[in-house]
Amino acid sequence: MDYELDPPTRELRERARRFVREVLQPRELELERLGGRLPAEVGRELRKAAIEAGLAGGNLPVESGGQGWSALQQVAVHEQLGQVTGGLWTFIPGGYNILAHTGEEQRRRYLEPCLRGERSGSYAITEPGAGSDPRALTATAVRDGKDYVLNGEKWFVTGADDCDFMVAQAAVVDGEARLPTLFLVDYDAPGLRLRHDPDYTHTFADRHPQFVLEDVRVPASAILGGIGAADSIANEWFVEERLHIGARCTGAMERLLELGVAWATGRVQFGERIYDFQGVSFPLADSAADAAAARHLTRHAAWLADSGADRKLVHAKASLAKLFGSEAAWRCADRVVQVFGGRGYMRENAAERYLRELRVDRIWEGTSEIQRVIIARALEKRGVERVVG
Ligand SMILES: Cc1cc2nc3c(=O)[nH]c(=O)nc-3n(C[C@H](O)[C@H](O)[C@H](O)COP(=O)(O)OP(=O)(O)OC[C@H]3O[C@@H](n4cnc5c(N)ncnc54)[C@H](O)[C@@H]3O)c2cc1C
Repeated sequence: MDYELDPPTRELRERARRFVREVLQPRELELERLGGRLPAEVGRELRKAAIEAGLAGGNLPVESGGQGWSALQQVAVHEQLGQVTGGLWTFIPGGYNILAHTGEEQRRRYLEPCLRGERSGSYAITEPGAGSDPRALTATAVRDGKDYVLNGEKWFVTGADDCDFMVAQAAVVDGEARLPTLFLVDYDAPGLRLRHDPDYTHTFADRHPQFVLEDVRVPASAILGGIGAADSIANEWFVEERLHIGARCTGAMERLLELGVAWATGRVQFGERIYDFQGVSFPLADSAADAAAARHLTRHAAWLADSGADRKLVHAKASLAKLFGSEAAWRCADRVVQVFGGRGYMRENAAERYLRELRVDRIWEGTSEIQRVIIARALEKRGVERVVG
């Protein structure tokens, strides 16, 4: 692996860095004060600025209207996105890589408006009885003439305030068979009801509501990627999302360190800089080791993905990056809050916001325990040397 990013990737990273520092970070406090709900015109402004900065749809293939960034380029960008709190990167137009499976008509209706910042979608898999264990999913899709009729309940459906469609997973009922399938469902479809919109630990631009689907009728053309394709599409998505999380956690640690070192080298107590107390500087040194290790794990996994390595190995490597990055970032946020003392407990301090926000990275897109299950299986099936190497 080449440890230097190539010039186009460095340019992209610098562009993302400028966008984060000049456009997104100045909105952090306003977002926090407004409970995550920025005025609609601000959202429109941010989306327009992201398109102008050339950051929209980076993960989507060029054939789908995206920019076709490599996995390593995506990681280089997400390392920068992790340096803003409030999940403000959600305003960058685009979509989950699952939308690369849209057919021509679906592309016109969903993907193209997403890339223009006019629509945005969610991905609804989790149900009340099925989180870590997808075998327990119960939502169904039953054929009725030219349509499918969907029933089920979806939880934690992450989307921006103005999100207006979901990709919902439901099992197509075919005799005894249950074929996991994805459907594009508009939020205004009759029978789709928002059941509850809870607040969470973090203050994010995205919401995570619960929806009930009660006899929601969609045409067969709403199927994304074919009947029975949901699991293989989800696997592609998990790898990408876990790399993005590893990268954002790395970026968060970098910013936490910058804030912590700047504060500790300026703050004087007992007549000395607190940085000169090892009780303060050693946790920062440990955080630097965590951040550097997370960056290498994530970039290495992305590089393997780009090199066409065995998909199962890449899956395990993405789990390693997500597990280590999310656990490490959580530790770093706690340490840096401590370095700030009472000021670290104020919501206007980014360290405080990170402490609340980074917690979910150990839960979503597969909990830390599920990443360990994946890694442990890979150790047995693919061998220690390949997983660790
Ligand atoms: C803010 C937020 C946003 C989310 N966004 C989305 C979204 O957009 N779309 C979506 O579909 N889902 C989303 N999720 C759901 C998320 O992916 C699930 O919460 C997660 O996969 C865990 O499922 P669960 O909450 O049902 O916990 P459970 O699966 O019930 O797990 C509870 C505990 O048991 C542990 N556990 C379970 N199985 C094992 C095992 N085999 N070995 C060891 N420990 C185990 C877990 O690690 C966890 O600690 C979101 C969740 C949150 C909190």
